[in-house]
This record gives sequence, C-alpha cells and structure tokens, in this order.
Amino acid sequence: MNNPSENKTATSDPPAIHRRAIIVDMHADTTQRLVDENVDLEQRLSDGHLDAVRAKEGGLDAQFFSIWVEPELFGGGGARAMKRADIQIQAVHDLATTHPETWEFATTAADVRRIAASGKIAALMGMEGGYAIDEKIENVERYYRMGVRYLSPAWTVSTSWAGSSGDEIGKTRGLNDFGKQVIREMNRLGIMADVSHLSDRAFWDIVNTSTKPVIATHSGCRAITDVPRNLTDDMIVALAKTGGVINVIFYPEHIEPGYSKKKKKVDAEISELVQRASDEEKGDVAHKKLARDRVRREEYLKRLPPVSVARIVDHIDHIVKLAGIDHVGIGSDFDGVQVVPADLKSVADLPNLTAELLKRGYSESDIDKILGGNMLRVMEEVERK
Ligand SMILES: [Zn+2]
Repeated sequence: MNNPSENKTATSDPPAIHRRAIIVDMHADTTQRLVDENVDLEQRLSDGHLDAVRAKEGGLDAQFFSIWVEPELFGGGGARAMKRADIQIQAVHDLATTHPETWEFATTAADVRRIAASGKIAALMGMEGGYAIDEKIENVERYYRMGVRYLSPAWTVSTSWAGSSGDEIGKTRGLNDFGKQVIREMNRLGIMADVSHLSDRAFWDIVNTSTKPVIATHSGCRAITDVPRNLTDDMIVALAKTGGVINVIFYPEHIEPGYSKKKKKVDAEISELVQRASDEEKGDVAHKKLARDRVRREEYLKRLPPVSVARIVDHIDHIVKLAGIDHVGIGSDFDGVQVVPADLKSVADLPNLTAELLKRGYSESDIDKILGGNMLRVMEEVERK
C-alpha cells in the first residue's frame, strides 16, 4: 500500500508533477529562426522564446515545429512556396542530426514517448497553411514522407481550396472539392487536420469531412476573446466530438479580452517606426520582416498591458467545461508572435502553467492530459490505418 503522506507530498509538488508529465507543444515558429537567422538552439538565446537550454528547464518533451510559408513573401503556391517549405523541413531534420544528444526527429506518439523517456526532446513537424501543396493532391503524400504530421489548409490568406479567418474571401469560402480531397488524403496517410487560422465555413467542412479526430494546434475560445481566429462554443463541442483536441495558444491577442483592439491602435501609432526599420534593413524579404518584428516586439512591451498565464488557463477551463478534460492541449506559438504572457516569457516558464492548473484544482492525471497526453492519444488514433 502507498504511504499516504508520501502520496500527498507527490501530488502537491508542482515541479514534480510538471517533470513527470510528457509535455507536447503543438506549435512553434522557431523553424524560421533556424532558416533566416541561423540560430544555434543548443545555446541559451538572449531573444526569442525557445532553445534547447530553456526547453530543458521548462520540461518540454516534444515540439511541433511549424513549416510556415508566408504567402505574401513566398507565394500562395508554386515553386517558391514549395522551396520555402522544403528548406524549413530540412532545417528540422538537420537540427536532429546535428545535435542527436539533445533532439530526435519524431513522427509518432510512440516516438515521443520513447524520446521523452530517454531525456531528449522530440522534434516533429506540422505545416501551417497549405500553400506548399501547390494545389496538387500528390504533394500531400510528399510532405507526409518528409515527416509532416499535421496540416492547416490555410494561414491568414485563403487558398483556392480553403477559406481563412484572416481575409475577406474566407468569410464565404469553406473547402471546395479539392479541399475535401486533401482532408481525405490526410486521413488516409495519417496527417492530422488542423483548423487553426481557418474560416468558420472551412472549419465546419473539415469537421464534416474528416473521418479522424480534428485538432486546433494554436487557438483560443471566442466566448472569452472575440477574434475570428478563435473557436465558438459550438465549434469546440463539434471538434471534441471528432475525438480531437483544442490546443490553447499563449498569444495575448487571442486570449486577453480587448487586447486585439488595443494592439490595432498601437500598430497604427508605430507604423512609421516599423516601416523605417524595414526600409533600413538591406537583407532579403525575410530579414526585412525580422527588422519589422524587432520594432513591434519592443514597442508592444512598452505600450500594451501585461497578460498572465492565468488567462491561458481561463481558456483551458472553458474548453473543459464545454467538452471535458480529454479535448484540451497547448500550442504556444512561440517565436511566431511578438508578445507573450509576462509570466510565460519563454518555454523555460512552462512550470508556471502547471502551477496555475494545480491552483485551479486540476489533478495530476488531468494535467498529464492537458500538457500532452490528449495529443498523444489523437496522434495514435490518426496514425492507425
Ligand atoms: Zn499561426
């Protein structure tokens, strides 16, 4: 029999509970830092949100690296979009082969469990926006073979086959026949369908087309923070019914009520500063974007109110109330955003999230599910042929 006092110590010790959990972050854009800034993730970086040193401090076990093609810079399809995807995919593979003592490339839930047990970090890939599919069904399998295990059909710009929440076209566009074919091909291969960034119509078309669990890799709840990027209560319930998981984003604009309005005002105030930084940068389009983001990061920190990790847990609570404990996870969007919660500045601060979950009364087994267990279950279901 267990010694009750020993048991009590174990369950009330937040760092131990955090350490024991398999932590899976569904979305980080660090991939673009690897490509455009040539950052060395083995070092503690003085900027950004993720490197191996801070990931180990934060107890991270698995990272889905986003393969993100910015359509304005690289095209919404065609050879340039595909090349942009390919060099990011190569960068993730290179990270694992160059530093096998830290990282291991992974594609399955079993890989993640094994790698976590070995003390390394699993590196996985998801594709954000279907631009690199280039409207060719055979490319879905191409990216599967390269290791991509989730795909969101559109980022903030609609594709011809899937509507985005970020543009006008998306207001009336869902999935067309090709889009539905893409979802069926993903189901066949074992690629998870991601609804983050999609239009409401595309959301419903995906949920109604997919025969496998559907996920949102980095989204929040519209009932708390009313932005088009977030999911309505009906959507959360419907996604949970597929067996899927809503992974809550850490980005203040999507989790803090009223933040989006304040940020728009600040964006107008700093637009000249941002433009100047871009003009003065002599590098390529990716480096001009880095220069713009650098100014935004500094100015947001000065001009916008701080947001706390407690707000992330508000979204987690809301999803749990609507759909139960089995349908919620985490998707940080680290290195894809210019502002993060004040007490979750980088992956090293992940224990603060667990501490807040414990404060709200979640048990260790609940926390295991939220931090990664639910996503491992979905991965296993989607992998099953
Ligand atoms: Zn995103």
